[in-house]
Amino acid sequence: MANIRGFIAICAIAAGVLHAPAQGQDVPDADPMIASGLKLTANERHFKLELSVDRAPQFTFHYVDQPPRLIVDLPRTVFTLPEKVVRGEGLVKSVRYGTMAEGQARMVMGLDRPVKLSRSEAIATAAGTQLILEGDFVPREEYEKLVANQDWSSAPARAEAASADPLTPSTPEPAAPFLVAIDAGHGGIDTGASSADGKTLEKDITLAFAKKLAERLNATPGIQAFLTRDSDRFLSLTERVEISRQRKANLFISLHADKLKQSDIRGATVYTISDRASDSLSASVAERENFSDELAGIEIVEEPSEVADILLDLTRRETQAFSVTLAQSVIQSFNGQVELINNPHRSAGFRVLRAPEIPSILLEMGFLSNRKDEELLKDEAWRDKIAGLLTDAIVKYRQPPASAGTGGAAANGG
Ligand SMILES: [Zn+2]
Repeated sequence: MANIRGFIAICAIAAGVLHAPAQGQDVPDADPMIASGLKLTANERHFKLELSVDRAPQFTFHYVDQPPRLIVDLPRTVFTLPEKVVRGEGLVKSVRYGTMAEGQARMVMGLDRPVKLSRSEAIATAAGTQLILEGDFVPREEYEKLVANQDWSSAPARAEAASADPLTPSTPEPAAPFLVAIDAGHGGIDTGASSADGKTLEKDITLAFAKKLAERLNATPGIQAFLTRDSDRFLSLTERVEISRQRKANLFISLHADKLKQSDIRGATVYTISDRASDSLSASVAERENFSDELAGIEIVEEPSEVADILLDLTRRETQAFSVTLAQSVIQSFNGQVELINNPHRSAGFRVLRAPEIPSILLEMGFLSNRKDEELLKDEAWRDKIAGLLTDAIVKYRQPPASAGTGGAAANGG
């Protein structure tokens, strides 16, 4: 264990020597680092990755398991590499990279088998600075020890860091009678789905639409909306939920535009959470969405068993009923106006929908795998229309028929 800690420290020192700033992950005003090339050579026993950068960065690396991944946290970086995901070979399955948060970038190496780094340093060469990572295959038991005994204190973006989210103001605005959390799916290193030609990315579609919907809701009396992310940055699924809980949102709407193998399937779907998926399509969509954390190198921490908590269980059940009401209200509003898939209300185990006290839905607006849907998803006028219909649905959800007794807004009670 001491050995591993020592090794991490040595890496930091090695990088620090070459880098002027004395402390911290990066200097906020400094220009971003430029990463202009990535070379990977790997076989079944060994790999070497060389990232061409314009300066020697401070960086940290960590091992994550299930599945095994090596994550490298970097300061703010602009990647000018030709591919978004570098295909691996041998020990390395793939290399992804992108923005994690303000001032932070990350590289995630998906591993075919466990490895241990033998070298990690930034060196000056005739061709410029190279960040070099080399590693070798290690048996599973050894890898598990590496994962268990590492020091995360310097890591900027672990799931547990959610409470310190800089985007979340410490006090909710007082004039927020009914607060809607709008969650633009994916972002940063996680691009989400892409169109057949690779030009339209789900993370951009969801963000553009989220902004439009927020505008629309904020123009509606008595309703206020906020975005879980308002830029192209990565947020873990836990962070999305936690941000909404901290701000005491009354509703949570996660926006997506996924892709399916069957390119003829099109139309919108509204999902609520369930332990068991309503059907196989929903199960695979949930699996894809839940994959977000994994590809960004977030360690997935299983929830402690809360089932025994009867009060929480009651809250969940009540919330679930409101989530279903909201889903139905959205479908009613879309009916005849927007293309819907068969059985448009479906359910599955979406990790982003599990706030116990916030009625939550996940809206797949359409599928990027379908040409017609893709055209609509990019169309300003269509987005306007959907934003309007969703706003209508939320207004209706807040004001159920007088005979219904309890109102949707009562779901949050405090
Ligand atoms: Zn998605």
